[in-house]
Amino acid sequence: MNSLPLPAVLNLLDYDLAALLAWFSEQGEKPFRARQVMRWIHREGCDDFDAMTDVAKALRAKLKEQAEIRAPMLLRDSLSGDGTRKWLFDVGDGNAVETVFIPEAGRGTLCVSSQAGCALDCAFCATGKEGFNRNLSTGEIVGQLWLANSLLGAAKVGGDREDRDNGRVISNVVLMGMGEPLANFDNVVAALRVMLDDHAYGLSRRRVTVSTSGIVPAIDRLREECPVALAVSLHAPDDALRDRLMPINRKYPLRDLMAACRRYLERAPRDFVTFEYVMLDGVNDSDAHARALIALSRDVPCKFNLIPFNPFPRSGFARSPAGRVRHFAGLLLEAGIIVTTRKTRGDDVAAACGQLAGRVRDKARRASACSLQTVEEVFS
Ligand code: SAH
Ligand code: SF4
Repeated sequence: MNSLPLPAVLNLLDYDLAALLAWFSEQGEKPFRARQVMRWIHREGCDDFDAMTDVAKALRAKLKEQAEIRAPMLLRDSLSGDGTRKWLFDVGDGNAVETVFIPEAGRGTLCVSSQAGCALDCAFCATGKEGFNRNLSTGEIVGQLWLANSLLGAAKVGGDREDRDNGRVISNVVLMGMGEPLANFDNVVAALRVMLDDHAYGLSRRRVTVSTSGIVPAIDRLREECPVALAVSLHAPDDALRDRLMPINRKYPLRDLMAACRRYLERAPRDFVTFEYVMLDGVNDSDAHARALIALSRDVPCKFNLIPFNPFPRSGFARSPAGRVRHFAGLLLEAGIIVTTRKTRGDDVAAACGQLAGRVRDKARRASACSLQTVEEVFS
């Protein structure tokens, strides 16, 4: 007897509202039903169609047959003494990605991954050194938020005031985990739409930040398709050094990147771009580098976020001494630029991007990657 292929089961975490509306319409279902289901999934954290009590029984049966709500599988859950919580998720084929929740007074920030590995090979980044495995699907990106919400006991989105004051619920999302979000554009944008949707997480555009190494055409597309807060990994004030630290600069040099930032600000929900700048001892942390940065960013309304380098074996870099970071910050401040320096958080659970996932993939090689640190006032 020939066995029939199993019907493809849709994962509804892959669907933003527009896609869900289209699918419901194909099924002959009314648009309000799609919105109802969207709210059950994301606002209530529900993964059981039977529990969707106000959804018609026949529709529930159809959904059970054709769809599921499937987040990535949790491999590890670690809680740091400072409240930082880190999850490691299995995304198949031996790949794992991580998500970190950073609670602060009045705010909870979730740092989400967009790819397993990264192809861009920045010299100071352990995720880059690991190479590229694959893009995460929309459902795997949204699934990190869906699961975090549920694991934090805050599945009802927004939570109540007490929850928020305790920093338990997710008020901010930053795409600063593993991977380059703009190299996985379509899946990331669909995930952003779910994050922003009032029928789902209802986050403000100002509280959702995409961090990019500077893929210029994708910055332009993001401005057109889904403008959210933008952070750009700068890390060098001139092309010669940036070419060396971030190979993507050879394709999109600083002049083009600065112009893209200015264009982005025409549509951005915030009136500044955040420039991330990893402080590498003796490489990009001199007074001359600070002065060159001031000149470079003169025409771009911006804030700087200085990141103490998070070392990993054989990286060839060291963290700038704290005094040097303070002095460097002082020079930018004197020039009228707002500067914050990231505090390291969650050290006792290795809450630095790439650390845990790296260990699962290759125990000998990986020890740490980009530092996941408090995102401080910059993203409030
Ligand atoms: N791919 C995106 C987002 C993920 S990386 C990007 O590059 O912007 C998040 C931040 O961590 C980036 O600013 C990145 O440059 C920085 N980072 C990477 N490796 C690091 C390390 N070893 N120490 C400190 N920061 C690091
Ligand atoms: Fe990729 Fe960002 Fe790491 Fe560069 S810094 S290798 S773009 S994750």
